[in-house]
Amino acid sequence: MSTAIGEQQHRLRLELFERVYDLILPMPTTTCSVTALLPSARTIVHAVADAAAQAALKKGKKVTCGPGCGACCRQLVPISVVEASALVTAIDAGPAEYRKRIRRRFSQTVHRMETLGMLDPSAPRPRLALQGYGHDSSSLWLDVSKRYFAAAIACPILENESCSLHVARPLVCRAYNVTSSPKRCRHLNRGAEALPRPLDVESALSRTAHALDGSPPHLIPLPLAMEWSESCPDAFAEQHDAETMLARLLDELLSQSKE
Ligand code: SF4
Repeated sequence: MSTAIGEQQHRLRLELFERVYDLILPMPTTTCSVTALLPSARTIVHAVADAAAQAALKKGKKVTCGPGCGACCRQLVPISVVEASALVTAIDAGPAEYRKRIRRRFSQTVHRMETLGMLDPSAPRPRLALQGYGHDSSSLWLDVSKRYFAAAIACPILENESCSLHVARPLVCRAYNVTSSPKRCRHLNRGAEALPRPLDVESALSRTAHALDGSPPHLIPLPLAMEWSESCPDAFAEQHDAETMLARLLDELLSQSKE
């Protein structure tokens, strides 16, 4: 990966699966909040998803994801708190009836997770920790995601088996594609073949926000987005130099590409 940040334009040259992508990253030229990194993060994720899909195609495997299939929208979706904040802003920008309906679904989903023992109802807000079995954060996440999927809890944003916030959907939702039959996505351990993701952009964004604003460095489950945003309304109020922020995000990605 190589980068070149200009005065007006931010360019990123990415080599992914033997393809070179010259990306123009949209960034304001002045100071801005860390949420202004999202359009750039999305541009990078789209390139990663495209490269993985093209590489699969070369091997004769086609992406089978399509409109109206919300099978993967019953997984425990990991998002950065930057995305949580942006998701809630997008929900609140919708019509009053939509806002009310989606907010109610978030409450119901969180309540269901509490009932199933995945969240501690009495823990201080915002809750960032899940309840489950595991010796570290990844095995704990895995344990809860298996139980979450088994309980068939639909994403609070899913409507008529489609994402009701397609333009503002999280980074991981943009990158997740499979080449196997959609039927396999409806069951855990049925061997759904997800495309590889050489860069974890949401984690890089999370660490960037942590370094700049002191927000949690780890990802949270999507159903906690509303709670997090309401508990920390000013989390990203601080303004930063746009180029410094972008450089930090790219550094985080560079360190992943070296691993
Ligand atoms: S945000 Fe949209 S794409 Fe992502 S899991 Fe929810 S409904 Fe599905």
